[in-house]
Amino acid sequence: MTVLLLIDGGVRLYYQRGRRKFKRAVVKHEQREKFLYYLVGLGLIPILFYLLTSWIDTFRFPFPPGVRWLGAGLIFAGDLLFIWSHRALGRNWSPVLEIRKGHILVTSGPYKFIRHPMYAAIFIIGIGISLFSSNWIVALSYMLPVIFMYLIRIADEEKMMIEKFGDEYRAYMIRTGRLIPKLRISRPFYKRYL
Ligand code: SAH
Repeated sequence: MTVLLLIDGGVRLYYQRGRRKFKRAVVKHEQREKFLYYLVGLGLIPILFYLLTSWIDTFRFPFPPGVRWLGAGLIFAGDLLFIWSHRALGRNWSPVLEIRKGHILVTSGPYKFIRHPMYAAIFIIGIGISLFSSNWIVALSYMLPVIFMYLIRIADEEKMMIEKFGDEYRAYMIRTGRLIPKLRISRPFYKRYL
């Protein structure tokens, strides 16, 4: 688990190098967003206690090993989605809500299917960490700030994208789901052959 989490941090640093060169054009709710970002960061601290000490070991729920392995699998899958999202979003990424100079609307990679693959990855990793650690202090301190951030941010993020990209983003919203891909309720597959 330590290795997987270090990978996350590394991915973030790797893709964000040089990002500061791209000037900001629009920033929304800066103080609130910074606060949410640090809150999510604070929620990660109990993971360190879990990994390095035995102080919070009493808060464990007895999960069978199978469930813990499922958790490890989810962390791994979430990591892959996290890396894929960073590659696709590139320098358009930001910890807060902002549009940068030369910002483009990314609709490729995981963004082809869902509008918020990075948040989806963070949720998948969180569920994985909760199952794997089997520790409710770890689970709650990760999941609650993340859910809180998502609920507060999501509507404003999409509003900002509509302000910037207009109909292009509206059309993109019709094609995609927020966190879960939209099922194509199109013609039954056999009709293609008729
Ligand atoms: N919500 C996205 C991105 C999180 S990073 C995800 O979960 O994958 C937040 C920044 O990404 C925002 O400031 C916004 O400017 C930018 N952003 C979000 N969706 C984008 C897209 N499809 N294309 C380009 N930039 C995007």
